[in-house]
Parts: sequence; structure tokens; C-alpha cells
Amino acid sequence: MTRKFNFSAGPAMLPTAVMQRAQQEMLDWNDSGMSVMEMSHRGKEYMSIATKAEQDLREVMSIPDHYKVLFLQGGASAQFAMIPLNLLGDKQSADYLNTGMWSKKAIAEAKRYCNVNIVADTSGDGFTTVPAQSSLQLNPDAAYVHYTPNETIGGVEFDYIPETGDVPLIADMSSTILSRPIDVSKFGLIYAGSQKNIGPAGLAIVIIREDLLGKASDNTPAMFNYETHANNGSMYNTPATYSWYMAGLVFEWIKQQGGLEAMAEINKRKADKIYTVIDGSDFYGSPVAKNGRSWMNIPFTLADSDLDADFLAGAAAGGLITLKGHRSVGGMRASIYNAMPEAGVDALVAYMQAFESKQK
Ligand SMILES: *Cc1c(COP(=O)(O)O)cnc(C)c1O
Repeated sequence: MTRKFNFSAGPAMLPTAVMQRAQQEMLDWNDSGMSVMEMSHRGKEYMSIATKAEQDLREVMSIPDHYKVLFLQGGASAQFAMIPLNLLGDKQSADYLNTGMWSKKAIAEAKRYCNVNIVADTSGDGFTTVPAQSSLQLNPDAAYVHYTPNETIGGVEFDYIPETGDVPLIADMSSTILSRPIDVSKFGLIYAGSQKNIGPAGLAIVIIREDLLGKASDNTPAMFNYETHANNGSMYNTPATYSWYMAGLVFEWIKQQGGLEAMAEINKRKADKIYTVIDGSDFYGSPVAKNGRSWMNIPFTLADSDLDADFLAGAAAGGLITLKGHRSVGGMRASIYNAMPEAGVDALVAYMQAFESKQK
């Protein structure tokens, strides 16, 4: 068995130690005689798994007590609708920052429910920059402000948290959650699909300030109402039990690594190694403005795009897979979430340098 370094944007690599633990527990969890997959979600065994996962996430992210943590299905994409359904209340409009493909999708969905004010738009530069706080045209009557701190496809990451006064700030953290410490108290709601930096697909985590619950319109489906899930410990219906369990193992693993401070240090170092190669030669390029460069998703181009296919084939032959860029950006993209070992980044860097030398 050889495990490759998989640079996929999601589903993405999981920590090997986590999967080995799951493998050990696969047929018989903790002498229960059952696999986690076979457990009733209301049984005491599964309840202990679910509770511990939430506690560990709260500890790792220092989530204040007046926030609920929900473990939902439908991925991050279901949140694009749940957010306006639940948070508009008696307001007619919401503010959205348009900084890439994922914010565009969130905007398109919100338009079904309210007037969307685009308060920043970087489409003009091909989604390669972060709009400055001073450029945001915020609307004091907005129900909330929505943004995407890390645009997974463009590789653009905010280097600040927007200041929105009394208007709740909502963040799609799908590809940046758990990559470093964040101050949860600055947000009304944080959400993330699981398959990037949390665990396997099938789950979305929502962290919501309690005063934002209870504002859903009457025709909101029960399954799309945060209050339903908050009042039922995310067990109104059967949750994605195995994904939740795996997420819990990842939270434990993060604690063992030294928590988010330690993850941030490693992640910054990993990203810097790749950007150093990109910036160190004319052979490689980054489309993204320097202050907006993501630690998690690093798009890069070759000066001669005719070499892309060769680059990718050679990388794959060396065990570095899924480096092809998103079709909308082209070139390459290295997604290096928490579970990508530093050795994987070192191998990519060595390959990039060798590939460049070979062309000369
Ligand atoms: C992947 C991703 C999504 C979509 O997630 P799903 O779980 O597939 O719905 C949304 N937003 C961002 C920023 C993403 O990276």
C-alpha cells in the first residue's frame, strides 16, 4: 500500500492517524460490539461520540457559550438557502461580498429570498484580490453581511475580518475553518462543509449566535430551520452519524497537534514554501494579489501553459496527485489543508524545482 500526496480541493486528505483509528474501531467501537455506522443515533454509545465531538470542537475553536454548534446535512450549499430563510426576519435585504465562485453561488441562492446588495465585487480583476474594508458599501438596514473568507477555487483569502457594526457577519469558512485560530465572537454565523478541513463529506457545521435563532419565516421547512436543529441537538432526524464521528476524531487529532495555534504555524510554513518557489522564478506565477494569498488553496500557473500536461503527468508519476487547476482558473492548484503532511509540500516543492531545471 502506498498513500499518495493528494492535493484535491475536496473531498481532501484526512490525517492518516485518524483513519487508522477509525479502521481499528471499524467493526467494534469501544467494546460495544457494533460499528459506529450501525449504531442508533439515540443510543448512549453514539450520544457519547456526538457530545464529545461537539465539546472538542468548542474547545479547539474557543466557541463562546452563547453560540450553538449544529451538525447538519446538505453541505455548505444548503446553507446558501438556509441563511436567508433563517436570518432575514422582517428585513428585505442582505449584503454580500462577491469575491469568487463560491460567493457567486451564495448570492444566486439568496436572490430567491431577498434583495441582495453587492457591497464589494472583485470580478473585474478576475477574483484575484481582497476588497479593502474601506471599499465596502455596507448597508445599515441589511439583515446580515455574507462573505467567503477563503475562496477555494480562486485561492483568495481575506487578511482581515470585515467590520460590520451591529449587522451580523456571516462567513462561509468551508475551506479555512480550523486552519488557524479565529475569534468566533466577531461572527453571527460561521458555516463549513466538512470535506475540506473537517472530515469526510456529508456534513456541514454551523456555529450560530443564539440571538439569531427563531427568526425563520413560517413557511421555512422544518429541516431548513436552524431552530429545529438547535432544539434537538442536531438530531431532529438521523444525522450523518459516521461523518460526525470522523469529524470528532479529527478534532481530537487537532488537539493532539497542539490546537489551532500549532496548526496555523504549520499551515503558514507549508504555504510559504510553495509561494517562495512561485515567486522565486519567472517559470511559475500566481494570479493572486500578495495580501490575498490563501494558506489552503494555492493556484499557480506555468509561464508556458503548453507544459501543464507534462507537469501534471510527472507529478502524478511521483505520487503528487490532483494538482490540476479548476477549469475556471486553469493551471495548477495545490490544496494543502491541515491533513496534508509537510512532507507532501516538500515533495511538491522539490518536484517544481526539478521540473523547472529540466526545461532549461
Ligand atoms: C466546497 C465549498 C462549498 C460547497 O460545499 P458543499 O459541501 O459541496 O456544498 C461552498 N463554499 C466553499 C467556500 C467551498 O469551498
